[in-house]
Amino acid sequence: MLSQKTRYAIRAMQHLADCHGQGPVQLAEIAEKQNIPVKFLTVILSELTRFGLVESQRGRDGGYWLALSPIDITYGDLIRIMRGSLALVPCASRFAHEKCKNCVEEGECRTRALMLDVRDHTARLLDSRRLSDRIEPVPAFTDEDFSAS
Ligand code: SF4
Repeated sequence: MLSQKTRYAIRAMQHLADCHGQGPVQLAEIAEKQNIPVKFLTVILSELTRFGLVESQRGRDGGYWLALSPIDITYGDLIRIMRGSLALVPCASRFAHEKCKNCVEEGECRTRALMLDVRDHTARLLDSRRLSDRIEPVPAFTDEDFSAS
């Protein structure tokens, strides 16, 4: 699964994409609207600035804004920059590769082959979706949804 940090980064970037072209957005606004702890958000925004996705300005009228147009930022890039793994198992991750305990030979493991396929499909999908894309929220799961699965 994506780390909490990566999920916060995605929400912060979506917020900045929604405000694109409207000037700097204050950190407090992003923190409040996206329910992200201020300390955590400060670190995330400084990382995103370092990677050239966000620009900032200090001072009373300062804040943060996207350094690129939302159409030029894919979810795949964003997740990779935050070092988020797209794989369901660590041995299928290209960025955070790890073997589990009691691993059989990686090159002979069918589970890993399947999970690599899942990872590659996920990467293709996330590389095709951009911050400018309209994404409709999906209703929260109900108790019936949980009992059906
Ligand atoms: S046993 Fe298979 S799935 Fe588990 S770490 Fe090794 S290669 Fe990956």
